[in-house]
Amino acid sequence: MTERAEAIAVRNLHKRFGALEVLKGISLTAYEGDVIAIIGGSGSGKSTFLRCINMLEVPSEGSVAIRGEPIAMRGDGHGGLVPSDRRQVERLRSRLGMVFQSFNLWQHMTIIQNVIEAPMQVLGVPRAEAIARAEALLRRVGLFEKRDAYPAFLSGGQQQRAAIARALAIQPHAMLFDEPTSALDPELVGEVLGVIGDLAREKRTMLLVTHEMKFARNVANHIVFLAHGVIEEQGPPDQIFGAPQSERLKKFIRSSH
Ligand code: ADP
Ligand code: MG
Repeated sequence: MTERAEAIAVRNLHKRFGALEVLKGISLTAYEGDVIAIIGGSGSGKSTFLRCINMLEVPSEGSVAIRGEPIAMRGDGHGGLVPSDRRQVERLRSRLGMVFQSFNLWQHMTIIQNVIEAPMQVLGVPRAEAIARAEALLRRVGLFEKRDAYPAFLSGGQQQRAAIARALAIQPHAMLFDEPTSALDPELVGEVLGVIGDLAREKRTMLLVTHEMKFARNVANHIVFLAHGVIEEQGPPDQIFGAPQSERLKKFIRSSH
């Protein structure tokens, strides 16, 4: 088997908010093509973990590397860290496609404007090329006919699919999904999971925080169970869902049916 490159490597990540230590030493490597589902109860640190990877939150301790490039950080003089090179952070963040629970489309822009904005402004892609790529992406997520609509006129499921197209437009090294279907009406969940499932089958590297256990089992090649700020258990889906070891994981799986 050929060795796959490390897409995201997190080492001994700690995150404290004042006296509250939310992440207590997390290490996780996503190799190119990995689809890693992150599961765990509310407040277990799943969002904080994703946000530390793209530096929306600065880790208190530990390191994050994207495609083998460690994000440079130095002590902040108060026992925490700060990124020491803002431009590096912006460059690396611009290659991580993040999709949040609450769509976060720019409301004053049409769907296609949402999708071409970052490629043009951040990556310097010429307008005609950005539009051609955006149209192809919108076709893929089934939204081509909505290209000139404003977000407010789309359903939640359509808005989330547009947000996914927007994240893909920067040709990301990896996608980070934080509960992408949690804010959707139940009948709209399937269409969004369908798009994410397609990306997983294309072997796009992704970290996916989700409460959709069946979906996680089907699309991920690795499951991470977070509890109380540590990786309580991890492994292949069949092992995690079929033969969980820790009592906490057993209880979590029972409660999430
Ligand atoms: P999850 O996504 O697993 O539900 P979060 O990562 O959102 O968990 O939150 C983990 C814990 O960290 C919670 O107790 C939450 O209240 C706390 N927390 C998250 N962000 C902040 C913040 N900016 N300031 C203070 N506490 C925070
Ligand atoms: Mg969360």
